[in-house]
Amino acid sequence: MSETIDKETFSFQTEVGQLLEIVAGSLYSNREVFLRELVSNASDACDKLRYAALTDASLAPSQDLAITLEFDTRAKTLSISDNGIGMNHADLLETLGTIAKSGTGAFMEALKADEVDAPGLIGQFGVGFYSAFMVSTKVDVLTRKAGEDEAWLWSSDGKGSFTIEPAQRETSGTTVTLHLKKDAKEFAEDARIRHIIKTYSEHISFPVKLGDETLNAAEALWTRPTKDITKEQYTEFYRHSSHAFDEPWHVMHNKVEGTLNHTSLLFVPTAQPFDLFDAERKSHVKLFVNRVFISETTKDLLPAYLRFLRGIVDSQDLSLNVSREMLQSDPKLAKIKSQVTKKVLSELKKKATKEPEDYAKFWNNFGAVLKEGLVEDAALRDRIVEICRFASTGEVGLASLSDYVSRMKEGQDAIFYIAGEDAAKLAQSPHLEGFKAKGVEVLLLSDNVDEFWLQHITEFDGKPLKSITRGAADLDEIKTGEDANEEDKSDDADLADLIAAIKEELGETVKDVRPSKRLTDSPVCLIADEGDMDVNLERLLKRHGQLEHGMPRVLELNPTHAMITTLAERAQAESASDDTLLKDAAHLLLDQARIVEGENPTDPSEFARRLGTVMERAFTTSQ
Ligand code: ADP
Ligand code: MG
Repeated sequence: MSETIDKETFSFQTEVGQLLEIVAGSLYSNREVFLRELVSNASDACDKLRYAALTDASLAPSQDLAITLEFDTRAKTLSISDNGIGMNHADLLETLGTIAKSGTGAFMEALKADEVDAPGLIGQFGVGFYSAFMVSTKVDVLTRKAGEDEAWLWSSDGKGSFTIEPAQRETSGTTVTLHLKKDAKEFAEDARIRHIIKTYSEHISFPVKLGDETLNAAEALWTRPTKDITKEQYTEFYRHSSHAFDEPWHVMHNKVEGTLNHTSLLFVPTAQPFDLFDAERKSHVKLFVNRVFISETTKDLLPAYLRFLRGIVDSQDLSLNVSREMLQSDPKLAKIKSQVTKKVLSELKKKATKEPEDYAKFWNNFGAVLKEGLVEDAALRDRIVEICRFASTGEVGLASLSDYVSRMKEGQDAIFYIAGEDAAKLAQSPHLEGFKAKGVEVLLLSDNVDEFWLQHITEFDGKPLKSITRGAADLDEIKTGEDANEEDKSDDADLADLIAAIKEELGETVKDVRPSKRLTDSPVCLIADEGDMDVNLERLLKRHGQLEHGMPRVLELNPTHAMITTLAERAQAESASDDTLLKDAAHLLLDQARIVEGENPTDPSEFARRLGTVMERAFTTSQ
């Protein structure tokens, strides 16, 4: 490229413009994390150079990799330099002007919400660089890419555009210079800078220097013996490496020695990370080979169902001289993955048994993710089931399947569950009535993933898992203790005419009409027939466009409900076949059952008309 190129001006991508507007306009309480973000970028740049030098010796850094801070209190400037990988013209355009990440829209929405922890969100989403504009009126980035001769100066006031021009830099690396806002001049003060580095960047692996002094420990924390590491040090490392602010819910630091040595330092967050339910299901645990950073988002290091974990895995027994891609298909890595996964599951099991209340917090955040393992990891399915917890109509709190089995009633031969979208609504479902009356516990499954693991786990401890919205509910065999001489309610015969009349009227819209054993209070409910797809799964598939029409369902009538018995009498009359009110009632019963399920009436205008007719009749006769 020739020396004659002038300064070029570029507009920020719209999303960046919006982001900068939000960032620059607000005063956040923890805006000092901009420094953590820039130091973290400098450290990433050093990691990248070290990795690149593995395959291209000419890139090997001539000096030790380090991060250098300089400030000028009077001029209100602060700069962060590294001798890492650097950026060329194309890199600058690509990375410091756009957000090329999926989920940007959702991220921007989240950011606009009140009381959001914006600095935290920014780092987590991976746009930490822009946090520089929380404290700066202008940001300069002087950079030169390793292995290239040209240097560039990127510059912006964060107001819609940035410039790039040719520049001079002796060695490869990057210097980010912040021209601080008036109200941010504290960040050009010695004590403040030291304190921030101590708080946020103590345990990054490269030295952070101020003058001749190194401010941080600058060693890989995970290489130290666990007994020498304090809780605070773990927390600091967790926060830095995952751009988080919360305390880790659990820290797991393990060294495995033997044929395959590896160390893992893993954290379970207290709060849900922002991208937990992204379609990409990215892992955020970093892979190191003998302290050289290799990659972050590899599924070959940990299974996707453990993607809530943060931290690192380091092994000296993996080969450094192969590409990332080859390393990822290395059987040794597969072995490490399997060992680490098992270790994590056993640690979680310990927490689940010893501290069930604390475990419930974990479960509410990450249970839905962990349950994906029931579908995906056949080999470890039994171990995962053990640490799964479920909401239930039984005891307060969450139940494990073994808890459930231990509480089963005499004569109960299945583990009952109901699946739907919302646990609170499920708890109100009419399908539960008979079970509640008998004191039979029902699991309330409200995560989407539930329908999928239920396809794989059809029994536990020899007991089948059975949906209470599908097939017959035969509760007669179940003894409840207090009502040994329960009267046998065989009202079926009484309903025969009503059932015939309703079937006749509803035709194909229902698969069948039957007396119900699961209802005690509500007059009607809908269920899937034995062998058909369960109601919730059908709903789920329809919503995702994987199913066009559902199967007709079975309408169940409560033989003890006053309305049903009255209708049954009416259906026995001679004139029943011309009884328009009875016909309207048939449709209304179906619609009522649908509405309780959260669905619409079959035909809303007909529904309104019928309801009108019936009400009119009721009011006229009661006068
Ligand atoms: P993230 O670090 O999560 O990718 P950032 O917004 O912090 O997001 O940084 C965006 C990108 O800018 C980085 O991925 C990197 O490519 C580039 N970058 C930022 N700072 C540096 C630096 N000091 N050296 C080299 N590249 C950098
Ligand atoms: Mg970053």
